[in-house]
Amino acid sequence: LTDVAHPVAVGIAVSGDGFVLPSVGGLPDDLFDHDGQITKAPIRALTLSALAPRPGELLWDIGAGSGSIGIEWLLAHPANCACAIEADPVRAARARANAAALGVDRLNVLTGSAPDTLPTGPLPDTVFIGGGLSDELLRQLVMRLPAGTRLVANAVTLESEALLARWHGDRGGNLLRIELADCAPLGDRRGWRPRFPVVQWSVRL
Ligand code: SAH
Repeated sequence: LTDVAHPVAVGIAVSGDGFVLPSVGGLPDDLFDHDGQITKAPIRALTLSALAPRPGELLWDIGAGSGSIGIEWLLAHPANCACAIEADPVRAARARANAAALGVDRLNVLTGSAPDTLPTGPLPDTVFIGGGLSDELLRQLVMRLPAGTRLVANAVTLESEALLARWHGDRGGNLLRIELADCAPLGDRRGWRPRFPVVQWSVRL
């Protein structure tokens, strides 16, 4: 243990019984209370990478679900700020509770439907759309946010994927299709069970 860079942290991890939170984004899904509407860990890791938090930056997490994206944004640095917008009041309450349980109760959760509900106050450095994607939402964001604001949107349905393909055609940025598969039992052997693909658009407004 004396050879490692952080002997105290490693000492706790090795000898303690408590859970030590990993320091890199893409935390296990079961650390968040959720009802299935959660950006799963590997997609969340790629999403955090695209959101690219810098110390002190503000995120809007639209369609926050369990709050996992906003929470991991906040965990990335103590000076980071995040505002979550979630249409479902039960999920909004859950996102608040998840944030408190993971030590980042500074997650500000608004209950309401975007774009009608969007935060007032400081404008964000980065916006993530994990739910509620629509032409109207994108139009409002383009109208209200200064040039240079980073935007990342994830789509699972064909309808929202088509919308992102259109906006990417008009405005550029990066369109990424994420296809993952998990090892699963197949008879008495194993095979790859594909997940729904996620299409991710990242752009600077
Ligand atoms: N990124 C989330 C998962 C998002 S699931 C996580 O990691 O937990 C999509 C969420 O968007 C759902 O919770 C849904 O209630 C919410 N939603 C759908 N339309 C919305 C809208 N117009 N405004 C705000 N939230 C919306």
